[in-house]
Amino acid sequence: MTEKLHISGIIPESIVDGPGIRYTIFVQGCPHHCPGCHNPQTHPFEGGKECSTEEIVAEVKQDPLISGVTFSGGEPMCQAKALTELAKALKNIGKNIICYTGYTFEQLMEEQDPDRMELLKQCRYLIDGPFLLAEKSLMVKFRGSKNQRILDVRASLEAGAAVEAGI
Ligand code: SF4
Repeated sequence: MTEKLHISGIIPESIVDGPGIRYTIFVQGCPHHCPGCHNPQTHPFEGGKECSTEEIVAEVKQDPLISGVTFSGGEPMCQAKALTELAKALKNIGKNIICYTGYTFEQLMEEQDPDRMELLKQCRYLIDGPFLLAEKSLMVKFRGSKNQRILDVRASLEAGAAVEAGI
């Protein structure tokens, strides 16, 4: 029996959520309520659609163009257990994982929530921090505002501090 994921939507081939062609999953539910958020429909924790790891892996497998899968939202860290299971299954079929979060790397490190740490370990890149309207920019790749960072997760965990990825 696998953990059920609650999603708001999927983009089967995205080029704006990380390098390469990516399968992007928007999870349902976000506690941050950033003013100016582009996905307000993802904020309520009720609703959305239930789906399983098996369903998503089967869909991703059908498209050889997909290089990786991006977890977006909503707040992926609020469904860390289900996403960890999904990430492991996707890595088994050769896909890399990128995760967006409204939390900063430093907040996640301070919190040390076991489920969130486990999800973090599955990710190649973490795009962290809330969307800040005052720092909104169209010039920052894969992000909405300049405060958000693209972090190399392995290097950051090894260093115990945020290490930006040069992408
Ligand atoms: S964290 Fe993301 S989904 Fe949540 S309110 Fe902020 S921008 Fe929107």
